[in-house]
Amino acid sequence: MASESKGRLIIVSGPSGAGKSTVLRELRSRCELPLAVSVSATTRQPRPGEIDKVDYFFLSPQEFEQRRKDGEFLECKEVFGRGHWYGTLRDQVATGLNQGKWVILEIDVQGAMTILDNDLFNPVTLFLHPGSMEELENRLRSRGTEDEAAITARLETAGREMAFMHHYQYEIINGDVDIAVTEICEILKEKKGKQSCS
Ligand code: 5GP
Repeated sequence: MASESKGRLIIVSGPSGAGKSTVLRELRSRCELPLAVSVSATTRQPRPGEIDKVDYFFLSPQEFEQRRKDGEFLECKEVFGRGHWYGTLRDQVATGLNQGKWVILEIDVQGAMTILDNDLFNPVTLFLHPGSMEELENRLRSRGTEDEAAITARLETAGREMAFMHHYQYEIINGDVDIAVTEICEILKEKKGKQSCS
């Protein structure tokens, strides 16, 4: 009975342009599990519409470094191709898990490897991608927000990230958001069922 209320860590990674944010937003509204998204810290600037402490804890490089030294991060990395630091705050994870939540970390492959290499929290790991590099390229081009050099850089970064896919338990192809969300929700519910029985 006690295990019914136990939280679980879920790691979601994948190249930028894979649609992670959309899928996770839909997942939270449609999947009946008690999901919570861990709010990371970053040294990058907020984008228009982003809110401090909601989308990220936006920190100066000095603050970030101090928190790192103080051991506040479960993992932190300079993310490929970004030139900024990102980190998972221990506190975010602990609070969620203690409340029995299924805590989602939307983090890059390097951060995920740190958690897996250190055997932390026995996470469910999902790698979300658009199916192929060609599809990713099409999506980046159709957004029309980046020039040729930026697209090339993103694709190179995506290639490096895709090379980590085999470390993840589940590969989710996001061709259709509804299908991807249903697939993830089913995976998590199955895990929950197993957890309750153990
Ligand atoms: P963006 O700047 O577009 O919000 O995120 C860029 C990348 O940083 C994404 O691939 C995202 O998964 C990654 N990221 C966000 N938060 C964290 C974190 O706490 N740790 C790590 N390692 N990566 C993160």
